[in-house]
Amino acid sequence: MASSSQGISSDTKAQVVQTFEGHPSYSCCKCSAVVALQDELISKSFSGRDGRGFLMQSAVNVKLGRREDRKLLTGVHTVADVFCVGCNDRLGWFYHKAADVSQKYKEGKYLLERERLIKENNWELDEE
Ligand SMILES: [Zn+2]
Repeated sequence: MASSSQGISSDTKAQVVQTFEGHPSYSCCKCSAVVALQDELISKSFSGRDGRGFLMQSAVNVKLGRREDRKLLTGVHTVADVFCVGCNDRLGWFYHKAADVSQKYKEGKYLLERERLIKENNWELDEE
């Protein structure tokens, strides 16, 4: 079973690399580094540590912290905190592994906290 090991670049290239000009995206609310494309959004109905969270297919300009088992609302997950490479602020976490089968779809995905992000390009976003 190939559980697509999407190269999580753990090499610490600590610089802000990409911008997605013309594409709706999320940026770090502190340093404005682009961290994710709107296209990569899977769900907006997740819970972050202090509020709403977005489940993202991928993220850029972020680095991962130490992996650890954490008890979340949906059970124990092996996660790692996600930090912005621009300002080192914590933006959310990355799901390495989910203990529960029903939560497996989160593996390899990012949970970014809404409060830490700003939306670029005024995209239409009315549904909650
Ligand atoms: Zn930042």
